Amino acid sequence: MRFLMKFGGTSVADAQCIRCVVDILEKHHKAGDEVAVVVSAQRGVTDQLIAIAEKLPTATDCSEVTPLVAALRKRHMTTLEGAAPDYLEEVGAVIEKRLASLQHILSAIHNLRELTPRSKDYVISYGERLLAPIIGAALRQRGIPSTVLDGCEAGILTTPQHGEATALCESDGRIKKRIEPLLKEGIPVIMGFMGCTGSGIITTLGRSGSDYSASIIGAGMDADEIWIWTDVDGIMTSDPRVINDARVLKSVSYIEVMELSYFGAKVMHPRSIDPAMRKNILVRVKNTFNPGAPGTMIVRNGHRDSRVVKALTYIDKVASININGAQMIGRPGVAKAIFTALADKEVNVMMISQGSSEANISLIVDESHIDAAVNALAALVKDGVVREVTHNKDVCAVAVVGAGMAGAAGTGGRIFTALGLAGVNVMMISQGSSEANISFVVRQEDGPRAVRVLHDEFRLSEECN
Ligand code: ADP
Ligand code: ASP
Ligand code: MG
Repeated sequence: MRFLMKFGGTSVADAQCIRCVVDILEKHHKAGDEVAVVVSAQRGVTDQLIAIAEKLPTATDCSEVTPLVAALRKRHMTTLEGAAPDYLEEVGAVIEKRLASLQHILSAIHNLRELTPRSKDYVISYGERLLAPIIGAALRQRGIPSTVLDGCEAGILTTPQHGEATALCESDGRIKKRIEPLLKEGIPVIMGFMGCTGSGIITTLGRSGSDYSASIIGAGMDADEIWIWTDVDGIMTSDPRVINDARVLKSVSYIEVMELSYFGAKVMHPRSIDPAMRKNILVRVKNTFNPGAPGTMIVRNGHRDSRVVKALTYIDKVASININGAQMIGRPGVAKAIFTALADKEVNVMMISQGSSEANISLIVDESHIDAAVNALAALVKDGVVREVTHNKDVCAVAVVGAGMAGAAGTGGRIFTALGLAGVNVMMISQGSSEANISFVVRQEDGPRAVRVLHDEFRLSEECN
């Protein structure tokens, strides 16, 4: 079998974790499987890099740079020592060189007092740049040949949209050409989260982007299966940190995972299903620390059971916008003006709802885009296109997901009756045309309770055939 296996930050957090990773890879290598690996940064490293990069342009000095670089050195060298002691000198020198260049870039950002999207992408790719050589060495330590490549070297070509780049179709052929020969030699290790533009500028694929890298590389190399290794037994009926009796799902469909991850289920990056779906590749989510558990299968048509609702999720980093104005009634082009104004400012609109009177349009946007959105819409108020724009950051969006909801009458009634009885006030409702998702907006503090109420209403913690 040909596999693409991705290990997330939690699976490579220290030397002990990396030994579990190498055990898994060794087993498949010995069984004669062809395996390529995508790795993330160690848990927390990308957050540290983002925090310092954003601080430096306005910081009075760059006194925080040296301690951060020293902490990264200590963590990665300790990991290397535990995972690949024979490669301490060789790979230690690689890490040292990368840390020196990271230190230079960070100092430059402070000196220039400027962090461009392009330089930010380059800085935040360093978590993966520091970790991947350690995984390569840990494989060689067990006698498995391994070449380490960054996302660009592996063939991932992207749009120039820094921080949220999308892979281009041309990546497929490039990946095949670069990765296939390496599969015959051993286990190639590819740095997740990054790609590059046609002119070689480094881009990143969005937070948790290594899942997306895995799917892009898996599709490019025509993998039989893509396995996403993480720290839970699979995709669950809800976030186990919110719902303590959440249950692992045996199988889900591509569409269901897309809906879940779009609405905040951290277990997968929202765009990561696309490349696998295009090539109809089976994706499995498995636990690095419990490899014997079957995990969750993601396929075109997931397992159908008697329950129409399969999983629930919520996202609290959103804000709502209400656009009012009787002028909108019957006047063509108002929606176009609103969405053009938002698109021009690259605002990500996650949910839309319009009252039948047409006097009101409500939107849910990414919380980080709220200022840009409100400014863009203020111009429409000034021009008299709409009367009033208000916004609220104290909201969260909850998604109820299940392909079985399509055509099943009464699910909406059950959802909103249960919420009403629990005293949860619903501020906005939206149902996608796929009918695999009903999403709604509640006050931020009501989010976890809304999920709890519906988890009980649809008996999601009970095993079902
Ligand atoms: P990784 O480092 O492997 O990428 P992440 O922390 O990004 O791991 O994602 C795994 C985490 O996602 C789990 O530990 C779990 O807490 C969280 N999570 C949120 N929603 C779900 C869900 N529906 N099913 C499984 N895990 C979920
Ligand atoms: N290291 C990146 C992040 O933290 C990518 C990933 O972990 O998938 O977002
Ligand atoms: Mg992740």
